[in-house]
Amino acid sequence: MKTTTRERYAYVALLATAGILGLLLSWTVPAQGIDNSVYDFFFRLHMPAAWPLETEVLGIDEQTLNQFGGVGGIRKALARGIEIIAPAHPRAIAVDIILAEPNAADDELETAFRTVPNVVLSSDLLTEDRWDDPIPRFRALAAGVGHVSADLDRYDAVSRSLPLEKVAGRTRHWALALEAFRASRGGQVTESPGSLEVGGVTIPVHRKEAGDAPMIRIRYVPPARGGIPGYSVAQLVENPKLAAAYAGKVVFAGVTAQTAMRDRWMTPFSGGIAMAGVEMNANAFETIAHQLFLTDASDSLVLLFCAVLVACAGLIYAFAGGWRATALAALLLACTHILPYVTFTYGTVFPYMPGVLCAWLAVVAAASWRHFFTGRILVETTESRARYQRAMQFVTHEMRTPLTAIQGSSELITRYALPDEKRKQIAGLINTESKRLARMIETFLNVERLSAGQMELKREHFSATELVDQCVTRAQPLAERKNIVIGAQAVPDVDLSGDRELMEYAVYNLLTNAVKYSPPETRVVVSGGRARGELRLWVEDRGIGMDKQEVKRVFDRFYRTRKAEATGEAGTGIGLSIVEQIVAQHGGSILVDSTPGKGSRFTLVLPLPN
Ligand code: ADP
Repeated sequence: MKTTTRERYAYVALLATAGILGLLLSWTVPAQGIDNSVYDFFFRLHMPAAWPLETEVLGIDEQTLNQFGGVGGIRKALARGIEIIAPAHPRAIAVDIILAEPNAADDELETAFRTVPNVVLSSDLLTEDRWDDPIPRFRALAAGVGHVSADLDRYDAVSRSLPLEKVAGRTRHWALALEAFRASRGGQVTESPGSLEVGGVTIPVHRKEAGDAPMIRIRYVPPARGGIPGYSVAQLVENPKLAAAYAGKVVFAGVTAQTAMRDRWMTPFSGGIAMAGVEMNANAFETIAHQLFLTDASDSLVLLFCAVLVACAGLIYAFAGGWRATALAALLLACTHILPYVTFTYGTVFPYMPGVLCAWLAVVAAASWRHFFTGRILVETTESRARYQRAMQFVTHEMRTPLTAIQGSSELITRYALPDEKRKQIAGLINTESKRLARMIETFLNVERLSAGQMELKREHFSATELVDQCVTRAQPLAERKNIVIGAQAVPDVDLSGDRELMEYAVYNLLTNAVKYSPPETRVVVSGGRARGELRLWVEDRGIGMDKQEVKRVFDRFYRTRKAEATGEAGTGIGLSIVEQIVAQHGGSILVDSTPGKGSRFTLVLPLPN
C-alpha cells in the first residue's frame, strides 16, 4: 500500500491515541474491578505446591467466649490457652488482641506470657498519629509489637496485600506477621528501597508511590488444604492433648468468633465468607517464611508492554491485510490475554486491563484505518476508471464528426483527380478540422486534469470584451445558416484572469447551443454587467427552452433533452458539463433560466481579479 508521510504520521498518532486511551481507561473503577477479579481468578487457578505450615491458630471462638464469660473474658481465655499449649514449646506467640487497657485478668495473662518465648503483641492505629499500644507491663515482656492495620482494596475491600510498616506520629510498627517472623528467627529488619531483609529472607516489597508503606501480597493457604490449622481455647480445655500440635510452631492467637470479631477480611479465596484477622496474619507469616512472594510488575514495564502491543497492532495492519492481518491480530490479542497469567505463574503480577485495553483499542484503530484506507484506494481507482471511461466516451462521441470530415476529405483527394482549386479547399478543410480536433482534445484533457487536481489553472489576464467578440465571430457562420442574428451588447471592458482558451470554449459553447436550439430567424443576445467584484456574462435566446426538471439535469454528462434531440441538431450532451467545470475551476458559477417554448438564458458569474 502506498502511503504519504502525512498518512504515516496520522496512523502513528491514531495508534498513540488508542494507547493513551487504553491506559486512561485502565485506571477507571470498572477496569480496576476487572483487574481484581482476574487477579483472584489467577490466584485460585495457580496455587503454589503445598508447603509444611509453620503457623497454628489459637482461636477464641464462640464456645470459648461462652465458657469465659463473653467478650470481657477474652484475656482470661487467652491466658488459659497459652497455659495449655506452653508445655508443647511453641516457637513464638503473636497475639492479635489489643491489650491497651488494664483488665482484671492481667495478672493471669502476664504469668501465661512468661511461660512462652517470643511473645509478639499487637497495636492498632487510633488516630493519624497515635498507636493503641499494649500497656507497659505487657510491653516489657514482649519480643516485639506489630501493627494489625488492614489495607483492604479500595475498590472491593478484599484483602490481597499487607502493608509491612505503619507509621503514626513518630512511632513505626512493622506488621504483626513480620514482627512474629523476626521474633521467630531473631535479628533485625534491614531496609532497602525495593526490599526488606529479615532472618535471612529478602522480602521484595512494592510501594504504590515513593514514601508509601512497603506492601506484600498475601499468599493465602488454599481452603482446599484446610487453611491455617489450629484449635480454639475451648477445644484445648476439653482435650489438652491437642496442645501437641503447637510444638515448635509460631502461634497466632486471636478472636475467631464471628460475633466478636473485630476485623473480618475477604480474601481472593473466601467468596464472600470473612476470614478472621488472626488467620490473615498467619497467612502473611507463611508468605514471608516460605518466600511465596508475588511481586507487582513495575509501572514502566507495564507501560513498555502496552507500547509494544500498540506497535505490534500497528505493524500488523501496516504490512498485512485480509485474513492474515485478522489472524495475526487474533494471535496478538490472545497473547495479551494469556501473558498476565503466565507471569503470575512465575510470581509476577501483571495488571490485566492496561494491556488488554491498549491491544484491543489499537487493533480496532489500526483495522479501521486499514479499512478506511483500502476503501479510499478503491474509491480512487473507481474514480480514475470513471475518468478513463469518460475519456473514451468523449473520443467516440465528440470526435466522430471532425474525424469523419477528415477521413472523407482525404479519401476524396486520393481517389479522384480533383482540380487544384477543389484540392486546396479540401486540404484547408482537413487542416481546420484537425486543428479543431486537437483543440477539443486539449480542452477535454485540460478540464479532466484540472478537476483531478493534476494541473494548475493558467493565470493569464485577458479582456472580457475581446473574448466575447472572438466567440461571436466564430459562431457567426453557424448562426448565418439559420438566419440568426447574434448581438453583443454592453459587455464591460474588464480584464479577467484565468485560462483564456478554456474560457473561450465555455462562452463559445453557450453561443453555439443558443444558435443550435433556436428556430431560424431569431435573435441571440450576449451581454454583460459588472457588480460587487464579479462579471456576469449572459447568453439569451428565443429558442426551445427547457422545463425545471430538464434545467436540473442539463449539466449531466451526455444528457440531452427530448426537444433538443427532436431538433435534429448534432450534439453529445458533453459541452455544458465541461463548461460547468471550467467555470468552477475559475471560481465562478453558471446559472440557467429557461421557459419551454420561450427561450433560455445562461449566465456565467466570474470573479474579477483584484
Ligand atoms: P449538446 O449541445 O452537445 O447536446 P450540451 O452539454 O452543450 O450538449 O447541452 C446539453 C443539453 O442541454 C442539450 O442537448 C439541450 O438539451 C440542452 N440545452 C443546452 N443549451 C440549450 C439552450 N440554449 N436552449 C435549450 N436547450 C439547451
